[in-house]
Amino acid sequence: MQTVEIYDTTLRDGTQQEGISLTATDKLAVARLLDDLGVTYIEGGWPGANPKDDEFFARAKNELTLKDATLVAFGSTRRANRRPEDDEQLAALVAAETDVVCLVGKAWSYHVEHALRTTPDEAVAMVAESVSYLRSLGRRVFFDAEHFFDGYRSDPDFALAVLRGAVDAGAERLVLCDTNGGFLSHEVERVVGEVTDALPEATFGCHFHNDTGVAVANSLLSVRMGVTQVQGCVNGYGERTGNADLCSIIPNLTLKMGIETIPPDRLSRLTTVSHHLAEIVNLTLDPHLPYVGTSAFTHKAGLHTSALARRSDAYEHLPPDAVGNSTRVVVSELAGRSTVLAKARASGLEMTDGEAQLVVDRIKELEHEGYQFEAADGSFELLVLEAKGWTQPFFDLESYRVFVEHRGGEVVAEATVKVHVGGERVVTTAEGDGPVGALDRALRAALEPTFPQIGDIRLTDYRVRDLDSTDGTAARVRVLCTHSNVDDAWGTIGVHQNIIDASWKAVSEGLILGLLRADAR
Ligand SMILES: [Zn+2]
Repeated sequence: MQTVEIYDTTLRDGTQQEGISLTATDKLAVARLLDDLGVTYIEGGWPGANPKDDEFFARAKNELTLKDATLVAFGSTRRANRRPEDDEQLAALVAAETDVVCLVGKAWSYHVEHALRTTPDEAVAMVAESVSYLRSLGRRVFFDAEHFFDGYRSDPDFALAVLRGAVDAGAERLVLCDTNGGFLSHEVERVVGEVTDALPEATFGCHFHNDTGVAVANSLLSVRMGVTQVQGCVNGYGERTGNADLCSIIPNLTLKMGIETIPPDRLSRLTTVSHHLAEIVNLTLDPHLPYVGTSAFTHKAGLHTSALARRSDAYEHLPPDAVGNSTRVVVSELAGRSTVLAKARASGLEMTDGEAQLVVDRIKELEHEGYQFEAADGSFELLVLEAKGWTQPFFDLESYRVFVEHRGGEVVAEATVKVHVGGERVVTTAEGDGPVGALDRALRAALEPTFPQIGDIRLTDYRVRDLDSTDGTAARVRVLCTHSNVDDAWGTIGVHQNIIDASWKAVSEGLILGLLRADAR
């Protein structure tokens, strides 16, 4: 079976993305995640380039035990007209003490002339001597040929001379980089074909940026042309439009092209690793990312979902659990009865066709008012239960009241809730920083003596959106809440002209769902 090495550069090239800044501790956590996923190489950073990367490599020596992956230090070749043993950059790479070093050097004569301001011969010598030097110290060396594709287009003899210098000096991999990301797949196919023919003794890698939107395609095509190492980043992180996305490359190579990449039993961790990494870098994951996005296997149209329930392979290009993702069915007015039935079944609720029709009719009314059930699976569940004749047994609301007071420069909110719980009238008052927090506390206080399990339910997200605000004061607001307990989370929704009442509906439904979940356990 053909094998391709997965070389992850999230910790180096990925952190070039705007908005990503990782501490050394974050980087250690990411390296462990990548090792769990089973990538072959983890490029940890650029020793000597910044104190954070120096700290990362220093701590990695003691704190990072990788099971499968090999840590790589990245850095540039020696400077012009200097001996390798006198070069600080190479000294920093040596000090990182990794088994593998990835050296980057210029493969475009234009850059040699204008950036290095040296001769082509010296540029080749910088690469060859740096590789030899690191080899003499027992390091394995990969060579990243920077701007290779541009360089090969404008001056193929020089670009090939650089590669030859590297491989003759002992570089194990020659990595062809499209640093500016401008090359299309048909050009990549031609160049990689010519280069692998010209240097049959070498082993090749590829490194693509996504400036033309085809970094993944270019990587796959390079593999077809004989490249055996693919460099990229989780979630396609990287400068500008990002690097080639490993979350697409890995399943494409493995599941579509039959090529071994990460250990087969790890592929189902891909979605978790992608989402976990998004949390560490503190960026909202694009839900539409192939394979790992939350919408990657989401179905909305009614026709699809009725067929999906019968034959999932009719509308999904592969079983989502292969990459650790899952099918989601969203409810909307586009959806018919079958969507509602499929969605209810996904929540473990069975319904008759008649009950499903009641829910569909109700959803259509509510969506007209501004409700939206795509992110409110909890409120949807209550609609289903109500269609089946259920009424919530936990409390009956008599009234609530909220005061907000500006007092001596401080704003305080106080809420009073009057409810009937188990046949008894309960009146509770609570304070909070804001009116919704005060209401939530007052309701909890009323319910807690009868339902102590309410203490395990947390409000984890609260979002307000203004609807049709052109109506001025008549505008309605939509409140979306997420509540969670130890092993589950659910969304609820409220819509009203008054933000407090919209919040009351979403918050109280969240608590009702939580009590139902606790009962079920
Ligand atoms: Zn790059």
